[in-house]
Amino acid sequence: MLNSPHVMLMGEGAEDFAEQQGLELVDNSYFYTERRRRQLQRVIDNNQAAAASEDPSDDFEVQKFSTVGAVALVQHGTITAATSTGGMTNKRYGRIGDSPIIGAGTYADNRACGISATGHGEYFIRAAVAHDICARVKYQRIDLHTAANEVINNKLVKMGGDGGIIGIDPKGKVVNVFNTPGMYRASVDTSGHLDVQIFR
Ligand code: ASP
Repeated sequence: MLNSPHVMLMGEGAEDFAEQQGLELVDNSYFYTERRRRQLQRVIDNNQAAAASEDPSDDFEVQKFSTVGAVALVQHGTITAATSTGGMTNKRYGRIGDSPIIGAGTYADNRACGISATGHGEYFIRAAVAHDICARVKYQRIDLHTAANEVINNKLVKMGGDGGIIGIDPKGKVVNVFNTPGMYRASVDTSGHLDVQIFR
């Protein structure tokens, strides 16, 4: 953010830049875990079963989202949002999800809110979820929970998109909204009060 004029870098160029900036790089094998390997195999098996039964709805049944996101209200009223993901299990090579796309899976505007999303990224990109929520707060002058609820539980549900968001408004109010049975989430305030939840 501070050492380049650009907003977004990808692939080899991003890795070169990261290296030049002295960031630690690791081999892809670093990210290997047996649990994820088994999850991938289950999805491959399930896709084959779905293809055989010609029921495309089976495809995403066994997929769990595993994005990690954070939003924060920091000094001088600055709102920040960050999202890190491995994408969706068994995604196609070259597929880009919503997480790195500013306005889809991640967005922050000091006058509205900070949003980090998890879910079926293709829908979050189409619906520009994170930006849409912030825009509703800003232009409709509604509160963050109302805006997020409308986008996640109405607009996105109608499109067929699963997932949710964590968000924070300029006063530091934390909002979690999702249309799935659960979403791992936690928040902490300045007094150190920690709140951890999974289900509704
Ligand atoms: N949103 C991510 C993606 O579509 C997946 C996730 O949230 O786990 O790449």
